[in-house]
Amino acid sequence: MNKDVPVLRVQDLTKHFPAGRGKVVHAVDNVSFQIPRGKTFGLVGESGCGKSTCARTIIRIYEPTGGKVYLGHDDISILSQKELLPHRQRMQMIFQDPYASLNARMTVHDIIAEPLRAHGVFASRQEESERVNDMLAQVGLNREHASRYAHEFSGGQRQRVGIARALIIHPELVICDEPISALDVSIQAQIVNMLRKFQQEQALTYLFIAHDLSMVRYVSDEVGVMYLGQLVETCAADEIYATPLHPYTQGLLAAIPIPDPKVAREKRAAGLEGDLPSPIDPPSGCRFHTRCPHATERCKAEVPSLKDVGAGHCVACHLIND
Ligand code: SF4
Repeated sequence: MNKDVPVLRVQDLTKHFPAGRGKVVHAVDNVSFQIPRGKTFGLVGESGCGKSTCARTIIRIYEPTGGKVYLGHDDISILSQKELLPHRQRMQMIFQDPYASLNARMTVHDIIAEPLRAHGVFASRQEESERVNDMLAQVGLNREHASRYAHEFSGGQRQRVGIARALIIHPELVICDEPISALDVSIQAQIVNMLRKFQQEQALTYLFIAHDLSMVRYVSDEVGVMYLGQLVETCAADEIYATPLHPYTQGLLAAIPIPDPKVAREKRAAGLEGDLPSPIDPPSGCRFHTRCPHATERCKAEVPSLKDVGAGHCVACHLIND
């Protein structure tokens, strides 16, 4: 693939679900971003803000309501499920809950080999076994684990199996949907380091989803902050921590737990107030206006567009854009 063509380009992606009585859930609205080869885009926001729906719409678990998804040069949003099949091995997903996402009735060998079989990669079982055993070793497990079942493993080991299954087919794009949120803190760093090692070795491209900014800090090149189905800020990962501009991003950062109680108290005062509104009939104008300490009448009436305020730092906020 041409190195200048992003591995993933998402353009105005929209996903609505019918909610009965003519109402619509605005799960994802006009989301656009791209990820160059070998890079990580961290997608961040509170639970229910549409991150996972966005990911599932990208890989066509959900059909998009509107917008485009390009995998390299290919617009995969217009393909039928049958036409999509040859592209499926190019994008794989690692899920949040490694227990729920692994079939309890299959051995670890069969779970990891499943993508190889689905795409007819090897003709012989021996080649398949060699590849599975090699993959087990790469994720820090061994061939004795192959004949066991997922419930015999710890959460961290199960996530290693999930990573092996996702990477065995050499995808270009890996969507990591909160892959460490369900794991003990002591295990999280091991899994993140493993994902980074694979990325460096294979120039993998990651879409890394997390509900708090601290989790994406060490893995992302660029970060997108999502609020109620829309991107409200995107920029280089370092910059989002050094110069967060959108009031929602500032609130998310203030909500990150910090060990010093005095600093924590001061930060909490600047944190987010209230709950995420319903994505059915979301607030008018800026969707964040019901929680924003700086909201004006204009914010209630006019939708702010995502504008570049310099060096690729994009923000959707009247306060900043003016
Ligand atoms: Fe707050 Fe208005 Fe900016 Fe929205 S547009 S984040 S309500 S100041």
